[in-house]
Amino acid sequence: MTQGVDVVVIGGGQAGLAAGYHLRRLGLSFVILDAQATPGGAWQHTWDSLHLFSPAAHSSLPGRLMPPQPGETYPDAAHVVDYLTDYEQRYELPVVRPVRVEAVLRDGQFLRVETDSGTWRARAVTSATGTWSRPFIPAIPGRAEFEGRQLHTVEYRRASDFAGQRVVVVGDGNSGAQIAADLAHDTDLTWVTLREPRYLADDIDGRALFDAATARRRALDEGRTDTGGVASLGDIVAVPPVREARDAGLLKAQPMFDRLTAGAVAWADGTRAEADVIIWCTGFRPALAHLAPLGLRGPRGHIPTRGTEALGEPRLHLLGYGDWTGPASATLIGVGRPARDAARQIAGLLGAV
Ligand code: FAD
Repeated sequence: MTQGVDVVVIGGGQAGLAAGYHLRRLGLSFVILDAQATPGGAWQHTWDSLHLFSPAAHSSLPGRLMPPQPGETYPDAAHVVDYLTDYEQRYELPVVRPVRVEAVLRDGQFLRVETDSGTWRARAVTSATGTWSRPFIPAIPGRAEFEGRQLHTVEYRRASDFAGQRVVVVGDGNSGAQIAADLAHDTDLTWVTLREPRYLADDIDGRALFDAATARRRALDEGRTDTGGVASLGDIVAVPPVREARDAGLLKAQPMFDRLTAGAVAWADGTRAEADVIIWCTGFRPALAHLAPLGLRGPRGHIPTRGTEALGEPRLHLLGYGDWTGPASATLIGVGRPARDAARQIAGLLGAV
């Protein structure tokens, strides 16, 4: 049986919920289809010690401030899951789960959304599927020869799983720095980064990142010089565990190695670091496979957009994947504005405003 709505939102993480909040305000009929069995999107799957890099009030979706977590300036991931669970109940968002969207196809004046639990027919689609389900690991010579364990950020849970082991952490972003700091005390750690790690000043947290992204958007909107946005500040937020490990001299980064051998990572000058485990904190790609039938793919696996609207398919909006779908849109506080703009555009397209 095919069900019909104005809008299908694909993905029930923070971006999908922010989309739902604004679609509801505009009076559109919609459904949110989410592949997870329970609320919280990717926050359900992060490592145990992860804390946000902004205080609760600065990590809020539209309409409802995140309450502070008792005893924590920077809330942990479980607190975010609780907040998102409460958010979708409070606003009675129609999330259906677990439903995995397999394909979105053009069907005359509609878009057809095919899932593992039936088909929906929509006048517009907002895709908010995030990046967590598409971990990226770079091609490195010898990767298949390495006989130890290799895992990505998405599989890392806690340092005690690796106690006493020789662990190589690869990655110069926040995930790499935080996981390296987590492991620094209990493992024989080698931290490898493509570039020299760049820390934000210790008194700067995610609030400054959001402000920088906002200033950049304003500058670009007004035709002024690109401020450089978040990239101008540095890459790593010196959250307390990272700062402590760094200041204790436990976070000394090595340059990127050139190949893997059966039991080590190896540099071209002959240096080696023996390893039992390699943890790749090397980022993500947008989860867009379900949109392949629309034939919209552009460079680097992205779909070209104007704001959130897909160029070539005005009935499709992309939300929350990164700055290319709105400044800071891959953050809790940043996704509200592009979600509002997308909902308004959809309402305009459907003649609902
Ligand atoms: P997700 O949370 O991944 O939600 C997408 C949902 O879509 C999931 O439930 C998924 O199962 C579902 N889905 C995927 N494919 C399909 C499909 N085909 N059909 C149906 N459903 C599907 N942001 C901050 O604001 N503050 C921070 O401190 C912060 N720290 C971060 C730390 C780490 C390590 C990472 C990786 C990110 C961090 N972020 C932070 C960034 C960001 O807030 C998260 O990545 C966030 O989870 C992205 O939300 P989302 O809704 O776009 O995607």
